[in-house]
Amino acid sequence: MTIENENNTNFIKEIIKKDLNSGANDGRVATRFPPEPNGFLHIGHAKSICLNFGLAEEFKGLCNLRFDDTNPTREETKYVEAIKEDVRWLGFDWEDRLYFASDYFDQLYEFALHLVNSGKAYVDDLSADEIREYRGTLTEPGQDSPYRERTVDENLDLFERMRAGEFADGSHVLRAKIDMAHPNMVMRDPTIYRIRRAHHHRTGDKWCIYPMYDFTHCLSDAIEGITHSVCTLEFENNRALYDWFIENVNTKHTPHQYEFARLELTHTLMSKRKLLKLVEDGIVVGWDDPRLPTIAGIRRRGYPPEAMRTLAERVGVAKKRDTMVEYGFLEHAVRENLNLTANRVMAVLDPLKLVIENYPEDKSETFEIVNNPEDESAGSRQVPFSREVYIERGDFMEEPPRKFFRLSPGREVRLRGAYLVTCESVVKDPDTGEVVELRCKYDPESRGGDAPDGRKVKGTLHWVSASHAVEAEVRLYDHLFLRENMNDIPEGSEFTDFLNPDSLTVVKNSKLEPSVANASAGDRFQFLRHGYFCVDSEDSEPNKLVFNRTVSLRDSWGKGRK
Ligand code: ATP
Ligand code: MG
Repeated sequence: MTIENENNTNFIKEIIKKDLNSGANDGRVATRFPPEPNGFLHIGHAKSICLNFGLAEEFKGLCNLRFDDTNPTREETKYVEAIKEDVRWLGFDWEDRLYFASDYFDQLYEFALHLVNSGKAYVDDLSADEIREYRGTLTEPGQDSPYRERTVDENLDLFERMRAGEFADGSHVLRAKIDMAHPNMVMRDPTIYRIRRAHHHRTGDKWCIYPMYDFTHCLSDAIEGITHSVCTLEFENNRALYDWFIENVNTKHTPHQYEFARLELTHTLMSKRKLLKLVEDGIVVGWDDPRLPTIAGIRRRGYPPEAMRTLAERVGVAKKRDTMVEYGFLEHAVRENLNLTANRVMAVLDPLKLVIENYPEDKSETFEIVNNPEDESAGSRQVPFSREVYIERGDFMEEPPRKFFRLSPGREVRLRGAYLVTCESVVKDPDTGEVVELRCKYDPESRGGDAPDGRKVKGTLHWVSASHAVEAEVRLYDHLFLRENMNDIPEGSEFTDFLNPDSLTVVKNSKLEPSVANASAGDRFQFLRHGYFCVDSEDSEPNKLVFNRTVSLRDSWGKGRK
C-alpha cells in the first residue's frame, strides 16, 4: 500500500478528448452514475459522482443517475431517496434523467430472448453448487454442463416457463453460451437470469426471474446510449463480458467501459457491507453518524460539498491499485474552504471563570469584532463584555513553565478585542484544591485590547461574557478507526477490533458568545482556536444547541511526508 495524495491526472479525460477529435459516438459524451440502492453512499461514491457528472459538465455531455436495482432482496426505497439527496448535495443535477435498471426489465428480457434465439444462451438445470464445480479454476478449464446443447426451441420453452413461474427458485438459470475453457473465468458461461420469488421495490411481484448484474449493467448503458461507462477496477475482468453482451445482443449504441482505481482513505472504510454492520450493531448512531465516511455523515459533520469536489479533482483518476489517500488530505480541503467561508466566534469549551474586580458590577459594553478576516463582506458583530467572563481552563496555569505565554498569577494578557487583564489572585475549592475562579484587574485605558503605553502583552485569550453566554453541547470527533490501512487487517482479526474507543468526546456545558444563539442546523462557524463547527442537524434545538466539530484548526496533513 502506498499513500498518494495529489495526482491530478485523469486518463479518462484524455480518452474523451481523443474520441471527440475522431468524431466517435457522433460527438456525444454520455456518462452515468449507477449506484445499487442497498446502502448509503460513501466518499468513494462521491468520487465516482464527481467524476461522471464532472466529465459530462466539462465536455458538454449529459450524465444520468441510474439505480442498478436488479437485486430485489437487498434494495430499499429509503436508499434511493438518500442517494438522490447526496448527489444533489454534491451540486449535481440529473435533470429528467433519473433511471432505474428495473425500468428495462422488459427490454432486457427481449435481449435475453435474442441470445436464446441466436443459440447464444441456454437454460441450465444444474444447481448453484454444481455450476461452481463445473466452472473449473484459474489453472484448470471448466466443463460443459450436460444441458449446454439444448436446442433453441427447448431453451425458448424453458426460459418462458421460468418467467411464468413454473419452476422453483434456484432450479434453473439462463446462461450465456460462451466458452467453459476461457482463461477469463467471467467468460465461462455466466448466468444471465435466475429465478427468485422476491418482491421488488419498483416492479412488485411482476417478475420471478431477475437479470444478473453483468448482463443488466452493460445493456442498461447501451439502452441509455452511454458513451463512456466508467467504473472501478474490480470490474476490469468483466469488461470482456460487457463487450460480448453488447456485440451479441446487437444494440444500437456500443458503450465502452473504462476502469479507474477506487478512492480509499486512511483510518476509515469504504464498504457498504461493513458500514451497514456498524449501523445495524449500533456502533454508530445511524448512516449519518458524523464519524462515518458516508456522504450523509460528512454532511452532518459539516463538510462543505465543495471540499469533496476539490478532493476528487486533486486525487485525479488513475489505474494504480492499492493506493490510499491520507484522511488529512480531505480535511485540508475542508479547512481551505471553511477558512474562507466560516464566521469566527468565541467559544469556551472548558470554562474557568475570571472576575474583573475593578470593573463595575452592573456595567456591560459591547465590542465590535470582525466576522471573518478572510472575507470583508462577512461584516462584523457586537460581542458583549461584562465583569465576569469565561476563559479556557487550559489558558491558565498557576505555575507556568517557560514558553507558556497565557495567564498565570501576576501576569497580564489580552482578552481578544476587549481589554488587558492581570491576574491578581486565585480562588480554589477548599476540598479539592482545584482552581475555580481567577480574580483579575483590568486596564480601563486598554479598550480594544491595546496597551495605552505600548507595553508588550504576549498572550491573547478568547473569552465569553458569563451573563451573556449561550450554553451548548459540543461533540468532538476523531478517526473512527485507529489503524491506518483498514483494507488490509491482520488475519484472524475483525475490522471492528480496530475501532477507536475515543472517536467521540461530548463536551456538555461549553459557553458560547450569544451571536450563535439563533444558529440553525448546518450553520458553520470557526470557534477561535478550536476548529470549525456546525450546528447538528439531528439533535440541536433552539434552546439546546448541539455543535459538531467538523475539523480542528491544526493541519496535520503533510506531516512526515517525504
Ligand atoms: P461498496 O463496495 O462500498 O459496497 P459498490 O461498488 O458495491 O460499493 P455501487 O452502488 O455498485 O457500490 O457503486 C456505484 C458506483 O460507485 C460504481 O460505479 C462503483 O464503481 C463506484 N464506487 C464504489 N466505491 C468506490 C470508491 N471507493 N471509489 C470510487 N468509486 C467507487
Ligand atoms: Mg457494486
